[in-house]
Amino acid sequence: MRIYNTQTRKKEEFETLEPGVVKMYVCGPTVYNFFHLGNARPFITYDTMRRYLEYRGYKVKYVQNFTDIDDKMIARANNENMTVRALADRFIEEYYHDADRLNIQRADAHPRATDCIPTILDMIRTLIDKDYAYATSDGVYFDVSKHEGYGKLSNHKLEDLEAGASDRLSGEDDKRNNADFALWKFKKEGEPAWESPWGDGRPGWHIECSAMVKAYLGDTIDIHGGGQDLVFPHHENEIAQSEAANEKPFVRYWMHNGFINIDHEKMSKSSGNFFTVRDLVKHYDYKILRFFMLSGHYRMPINFSADLLKAAENGWKRIETCLENLKFISQTAPEQYTGEAAGKAEALLSEDCAAAKKAFIKVMDDDLNTADALAAIFDLVRSANTAVKTTGISKAILQQTADLMIELLGILGLKAEQENHVPKQILELLQQRSEAKKNKDYALADRIRNEIQSQDFIIEDTPQGPKVTHK
Ligand SMILES: [Zn+2]
Repeated sequence: MRIYNTQTRKKEEFETLEPGVVKMYVCGPTVYNFFHLGNARPFITYDTMRRYLEYRGYKVKYVQNFTDIDDKMIARANNENMTVRALADRFIEEYYHDADRLNIQRADAHPRATDCIPTILDMIRTLIDKDYAYATSDGVYFDVSKHEGYGKLSNHKLEDLEAGASDRLSGEDDKRNNADFALWKFKKEGEPAWESPWGDGRPGWHIECSAMVKAYLGDTIDIHGGGQDLVFPHHENEIAQSEAANEKPFVRYWMHNGFINIDHEKMSKSSGNFFTVRDLVKHYDYKILRFFMLSGHYRMPINFSADLLKAAENGWKRIETCLENLKFISQTAPEQYTGEAAGKAEALLSEDCAAAKKAFIKVMDDDLNTADALAAIFDLVRSANTAVKTTGISKAILQQTADLMIELLGILGLKAEQENHVPKQILELLQQRSEAKKNKDYALADRIRNEIQSQDFIIEDTPQGPKVTHK
């Protein structure tokens, strides 16, 4: 498998530090609100990565944090007249509500920043002891000039950062370098605080991820994921802290997903095109949001509009209808193919199944190309739609096609609803109707038909036999 590594700016062959095991960390949400469409993209992308790695036989150790203390948390908690802890509790529940319905699997650990204060303090102490960090009047800062290679992920030069930051220094006058960032912020009036040897306060944002990675996964991990907006300064600072403290390489592969545009414009609160997932599911199914998100390559920007969502909905329906037809026809299909046409169609479908699976793996192996993976599934849908028009294809090959489609969709975290939910007594009536027709008792057949329809089902006679669906 090859992964595009932000740090080297190229696709690299994926090799884990420990054979067969992938240690993976993804920056999670700040839990002060419902998560928005831009947050949903990394959660879905890296959940898909995890599922695919597992499909390829890796054991994946997956950690995603909750940032439950920062300026936004404090401001909202004060506004709502509740504690920061209670605010976090509420929106962690809301995160799970949406994430579960988007079929985002829970991580092996979801640590909260405020539950990791001792771990965070340990790391800050190490950084101070090694002379990478220092206390000022308002907090403890990381000295970026001490870390060789600062800027290597985001391709920034320290001199440029220093020059660029020269006029925004207010209140942080005793920092050694303009680009130095806070590891610990001393308590201000009305803010929650924890004890530390340097003064009561709270952690800076970047340090929580470095501390959690170390506590849950170790000094070096295989994959670190997040949105493109986190490359600088967040991930650059994570590297600096972790490599300075641990004296080991921090991350082997950095993955970053692209932005979401709304009707070709950047999503932002000020332009009024800011959507939470909770808003969107009033109009679209969670599944359609996931399907839509995977229809583009994760590194590319994705454009979101009502038309594109509608197209995604139609695309998804084509897959579901195909699966429904495969299931329905396989119910009455012969155990072995009958007739020459069926034999040819069956051989072709079998070949197309093998080709679809091969294509799916090939493109997913190439930096998780879910867009082309969906194209491979649609190729199979087309083959299956042609095949089901041929009578006499055997049950086994029809089922095998449906199973493969379900398997490939499952790797993308997409689940097709196939249960038609036709109750047993309706199927029995259907059987009696077929018997009656066979015996040319059309009056009885019609009576049974009416009875089935009076129970809110529709009968459609097809070349493969009668098909029953809910009204
Ligand atoms: Zn992070």
